[in-house]
Amino acid sequence: MTSPAQTPSALVWQDDSLDYDFGPAHPLKPIRVELTVSLIRACGLTDAEGVTTLPLEPFADDDVLRRHDERYVEAVKRASSDPHAGASLRFGLGVGDNPTFAGMHEASLRVCGASVAAAKAVWEGWVSHAFNPAGGLHHAMADRASGFCIYNDPALAIDWLLRHGATRVAYVDVDTHHGDGVQKMFYDDPRVLTISLHETGEALFPGTGFAHEIGEGDARGTSLNVSLEPTTPGEVWLEAFDAVVSQALDAFGPQVLVTQLGCDTHATDSLAHLMLTTDDYVGIAQRLRRLAHDHAQGRWVATGGGGYQIASVVPRAWAIYFAELAGLSLPAELPGDWRREAEEAASRFDMPAPPQQFLEGSVDLRQDRLEELRGQARQSVEKLKQHAFGLLEGHA
Ligand SMILES: [Zn+2]
Repeated sequence: MTSPAQTPSALVWQDDSLDYDFGPAHPLKPIRVELTVSLIRACGLTDAEGVTTLPLEPFADDDVLRRHDERYVEAVKRASSDPHAGASLRFGLGVGDNPTFAGMHEASLRVCGASVAAAKAVWEGWVSHAFNPAGGLHHAMADRASGFCIYNDPALAIDWLLRHGATRVAYVDVDTHHGDGVQKMFYDDPRVLTISLHETGEALFPGTGFAHEIGEGDARGTSLNVSLEPTTPGEVWLEAFDAVVSQALDAFGPQVLVTQLGCDTHATDSLAHLMLTTDDYVGIAQRLRRLAHDHAQGRWVATGGGGYQIASVVPRAWAIYFAELAGLSLPAELPGDWRREAEEAASRFDMPAPPQQFLEGSVDLRQDRLEELRGQARQSVEKLKQHAFGLLEGHA
């Protein structure tokens, strides 16, 4: 039995939403989203009173052109209809991270349509919170693909909100990689506050996200970056989050909170080096929920993001976020039927199988190493405050 949701909430999902697929050898596998939705359902969250499952909003070329250059969109469309001829170094297509595939334009539009559906449901008041697990493609640039991201769905969802009456939007990005594409698209826009906590660009793609990146023109002070050293554990990550985000939202006064919930911060993630656990995701989820209610009129639009342990981490992480978003509780153990499905998928892709439990405790670090990492995180927060907080308070 599931109790009624404390907060009217939506999961944006269609069963045909899995065609954003760079192929079986690529780390961003759609199965991670499929297993997430399957786990959310297996835990009864979508059956709870007050929780709805929403379809995508239609999303067309004109919509994507609001934030992406015409020549880039034309290049994506060429690659989409002819993946072999469509590779282009200039547009980041077909090289390394972003292989071309048939139908990539349409699949990318659908990811955007799902994030816009979440934004619309929240902004029009149908629900207070909404989650698109397939979204969070935060590296896409106006004029090129980057880091597995073709079109920037969080930026396009923010754009939708701005077009429909929002005048102050806060974007919080907890992926292990800097949310560079979203930051760049609103770097000179004082209506959008972007906050990203991530592994330092000195160690990790995309190599940006430092304290001195604070926005430009009228928007100086509305771009905030906390960069953290490799192996930073959850308790230090959460301390940095607490030192920055609430104060920043309080100063900015958003009408809606948009979040990118990448879970490639996990200690076992194969692409990065932070050391968070699923217990830390409970902490982050609780904080984001509280922030949405204390500082953003209760409105919370959430997207997925990175996370490459397709069976052992991503579904648990995002089920934890969705449960918190709806104000529902999860069982301690992962449902048996779901585990069998996830084990089968894990073995198909030669990936780690899921554990039995949602939670796993915290990572053990030597005390001196922990103190060193804590000191570095505090320095990063201090630098950010020196560079940006005075300017941000001027936007209040
Ligand atoms: Zn990432």
